[in-house]
Amino acid sequence: MSQIKENIQRIQEEILNSCIKSNRNPDSVTLIAVTKTKPVEDMQIAYDCGLHNFGENKVQEIQAKYPSFGDKPIWHMIGHLQTNKVKYIIDKVSLIHSVDSLNLAKVIDAQAKKHNKIQDILIQINVANEDTKFGITEEEVEPLIREIAKFENVKIRGLMTIAPYVVDSEQNRPIFRKMSQIFVDINQKNIDNVNMDTLSMGMTNDYQVAIEEGATMIRIGTAIFGDRNYSLEG
Ligand SMILES: *Cc1c(COP(=O)(O)O)cnc(C)c1O
Repeated sequence: MSQIKENIQRIQEEILNSCIKSNRNPDSVTLIAVTKTKPVEDMQIAYDCGLHNFGENKVQEIQAKYPSFGDKPIWHMIGHLQTNKVKYIIDKVSLIHSVDSLNLAKVIDAQAKKHNKIQDILIQINVANEDTKFGITEEEVEPLIREIAKFENVKIRGLMTIAPYVVDSEQNRPIFRKMSQIFVDINQKNIDNVNMDTLSMGMTNDYQVAIEEGATMIRIGTAIFGDRNYSLEG
């Protein structure tokens, strides 16, 4: 059995365990295979194992790999997105996880309009307030959502965060809990056009804790495909 297949089976068991532990339906958690830097051959193995959600963090990489799979998988843009590059992926991705400014949302709205599409997006929050990462602060969330909600061709589906790298995943529990709180709070405000159902959080090192705290999408690369070799990148 391939290593990737073995890894996926192990992760799926872990997901199940975390769901049982937290009294959740396993169907409420979507596993996104983070395929950045990985060849299409590895992606095909994951796809054949039933992982039909691919996450990429670079526009160029989505453009390069898209022709190999087309619309069969669900493509997720999980990395920082520059406004001038939105046009290259708007017809390819189902969900953009990394919206962190009104201007970016505005460009996405305009491009989506051109393609006669309603683009699903998530708002990226930097709960840990790390200055090395993208995302808005907790205080900025509601005002930004209220503005973006006015756009016709953008639909806010939820929130996303990248938690810090920690050795003990328990250290990230307060961050995931905070995310869940913000998620519930915003939904209770009954903002026009905002009805969030997606909470994207948890990666290789902390996805079990993220599930226990309410994640509906987990983004996993290393645990599926092994370490990334960035020196191979062009
Ligand atoms: C790379 C990446 C991941 C996956 O990280 P792993 O630790 O390899 O699972 C998840 N989310 C984002 C935004 C990423 O860039």
